[in-house]
Amino acid sequence: METSSAPVVLRGVPAVGGVRYAPVLWPGARPAPEADDSAAELEEPERAGERERFAAASSAVADRLRSRAAKATGAAAEVLTTTATLAQDRAWAAATEKRIADGMSAVRAVVATADQFVEMFTRMGGLMAERVADLRDIRDRVIADLRGLPEPGVPVPDVPSVLCAEDLAPADTAGLDPNLVVALVTSLGGPTSHTAIIARQLGIPCVVAVSGLEKVQPGTMVLVDGTNGTVEIEPDATVAAAAVAQARREADLADSWRGPGATADGHQVAVLANVQDGAAAQAAAETPAEGIGLFRTELCFLNRDLEPTVDEQAQIYGDVLAAFPGRKVVVRTLDAGSDKPLRFAGHADEANPALGVRGIRIAQGNPELLTRQLEAIAAAAEATGQSPWVMAPMIATPAEAKAFAAQVRSFGLTPGVMIEVPAAALLADRILRHVDFLSIGTNDLTQYTMAADRMSADLATLSDPWQPAVLALVHAAAKAGAEQGKPVGVCGEAAADPALACVLVGLGVTSLSSAAAAVRAVGAALAGVTLTQCRAAAEAALDAESSEEARSAALAALATH
Ligand code: PEP
Ligand code: MG
Repeated sequence: METSSAPVVLRGVPAVGGVRYAPVLWPGARPAPEADDSAAELEEPERAGERERFAAASSAVADRLRSRAAKATGAAAEVLTTTATLAQDRAWAAATEKRIADGMSAVRAVVATADQFVEMFTRMGGLMAERVADLRDIRDRVIADLRGLPEPGVPVPDVPSVLCAEDLAPADTAGLDPNLVVALVTSLGGPTSHTAIIARQLGIPCVVAVSGLEKVQPGTMVLVDGTNGTVEIEPDATVAAAAVAQARREADLADSWRGPGATADGHQVAVLANVQDGAAAQAAAETPAEGIGLFRTELCFLNRDLEPTVDEQAQIYGDVLAAFPGRKVVVRTLDAGSDKPLRFAGHADEANPALGVRGIRIAQGNPELLTRQLEAIAAAAEATGQSPWVMAPMIATPAEAKAFAAQVRSFGLTPGVMIEVPAAALLADRILRHVDFLSIGTNDLTQYTMAADRMSADLATLSDPWQPAVLALVHAAAKAGAEQGKPVGVCGEAAADPALACVLVGLGVTSLSSAAAAVRAVGAALAGVTLTQCRAAAEAALDAESSEEARSAALAALATH
């Protein structure tokens, strides 16, 4: 089986680009909040003293953070100051003091209040949810102070290391030395979490939300790719060193790439960004991205219990449209279900949700959800004077495409569909009779072609978009587009891999949309090769028997001339 010899590659969300190879370091354990404090109620006379102990601990923690802030600069200083302010937040202090007044020990009260606030922030979702790490950090620092223990934090490594953690406390990240912590990897957090913000400021490659990270032992050599969002466990040392050197050369080239997307011989290919909200769209607008190739609308609402109103949706979509005035923006309708359930979408319990009612299929049982979303997109278009393209996820048949297109057109919008299901790739010519464009979601197309769960680290070799079978389906869809003169883009992670992006162009795709962090690297790679090289690389990859063979044959073709 193909999985046995290849190194394991864990996948996450790319946050800060760059490739590094170093041993793993885990921060020491933080104090266990409940470990040694008695559940017994405090006697009435003890409570005032306990309240003072809590107040003193909070202000000691805040003071220490402020004095570190005074020595830091930029985002690091800002994070330390914000965390210090949170340590003395009035609502937080009042809730904790109330618990102590009711008889809880200070430690138990801090734990209970932190739980309460964590739950509240998580429910609020978005940026608030990403502040949960700050709260937990404050909790642990205050508890350590109450117990007279040293303040928790990241140890200073002896050798350059890859710092791995569930989520790093912002105050810890802010103090990192980029010469010793050469990459950051977390199993939680998002690309706008403080970990990612500080890593960006410090120029430390960073991957967040990596599944399976907890199994990686300290000292294990890993190759972190912050552009593609991967962590390769114990790769061949020579190959890893070459990857790091190559990445440094590419980073130098990418930094100077200004767009627009084209091969060295002038074949134009739009290089676009994938975003999940207005803030990400604004960040993408600071790169040479020519527009947005995928706006994942469901990510705006993952923590909502109730469907957002049409007005609220229109506001959120409008923020994204406004970031790219007069440019292409492709809005995807809610891709709810499977790994991205939405509470308000009414998902039934399913034995196999990846093959269940997800994506456009939700609209069968709940057509109003789609109608209201299209209404909101049309309102956002009107308010911003933009003409977004709108596409449906998980289309499997021409009939689904036809019905979706009619509905989208009735709102005066431009319809397209995603090609994520092999059936849709095979019938792309028939689907294109109804819609104006296709966008290939290589993440799901790979998952369904190879019958390999995209979340499974064990199946990483199978769920590799370099698999020739996946490339053959991309080719079929691109060919159908060329025959009908309609655009066919790629918006899955494959478009973030510079070499694979060149292969996709050789297969005939007309646009590439990736995480904003990858845009420069993709644009620069494309600018360094001719269309003939891309086609030769595509042909070589299509002829291969495995993903490894496809990759090396394509790289050889791209390196010639
Ligand atoms: C894809 O499947 O390639 C895609 C872009 O959609 P998502 O990753 O959101 O499922
Ligand atoms: Mg998908």
